[in-house]
Amino acid sequence: MPIHERSLIRPENLVTHENLVIDGVDVSGHWSTFITSRTVTDYNEAMEEEISALPGGEHINRCWQCGSCTNACTVNAINPEFNPRYWIYLIRLGMEEELLRDKEILWQCVSCNKCTYACPRDVVPEAVMKATAHWMELKGHTPKSPSTHFDESFTGSVIATGKIEEGQVMRSFFKKTGQPLNQPWLIALVRGLVLKFPITLLMRLGLSALIRPRTSGWGRTQAALNDYVSEVEARNSKALGLDGKGKH
Ligand code: SF4
Ligand code: SF4
Repeated sequence: MPIHERSLIRPENLVTHENLVIDGVDVSGHWSTFITSRTVTDYNEAMEEEISALPGGEHINRCWQCGSCTNACTVNAINPEFNPRYWIYLIRLGMEEELLRDKEILWQCVSCNKCTYACPRDVVPEAVMKATAHWMELKGHTPKSPSTHFDESFTGSVIATGKIEEGQVMRSFFKKTGQPLNQPWLIALVRGLVLKFPITLLMRLGLSALIRPRTSGWGRTQAALNDYVSEVEARNSKALGLDGKGKH
């Protein structure tokens, strides 16, 4: 297929001959720069369908490639390689290998939603970025990101008790991400709390870390939430052709 995008021309696709004479004309150096021919054969024709089946990816088919999202993007202003329009283009064409080349930066979206407000087609690019990062995790292309670990810790705490227990969420998050609890910023935060908060409130917080209070009558809600989560995970796995293998 022809090259559609300038960004598809990577440095490794450029060949320069140090010494080359053609018909008596010296074209050595940059005068003899060629782009190596390439044929893309590894299309994933299901990729757009898979990502649009995940929460946030629903409206990817509306994109008309105007570039307003990339133009407005906070991260693109710092790193031009971060390009939502280009990734949507690759997804819609099914160019999985090309997309995976940017897997180390795609998750860096800061959810500012400037792209969402700029998009004339209501694609919601911010949500597409999240769906794509999630798709990469479910497919095993990338490990779970810290933000996925945090979501799981937060959701797990709410489903278990019907309450948001900050201490429990933080402990679970640190454990999942292999971080020690004695982070300097956390120690500074706790010191600040000790100085500013009433002692009774601090005792209540400490006690709740030990006994994990539950919302009364939470059992039926908990069962319904667990059913819903299982249903969504099964639906995602089916959409991605994972047959339960990608279940978290
Ligand atoms: S939400 Fe993400 S993709 Fe959109 S403008 Fe902000 S950083 Fe860029
Ligand atoms: S602003 Fe919307 S329509 Fe334009 S390229 Fe981005 S996602 Fe596509």
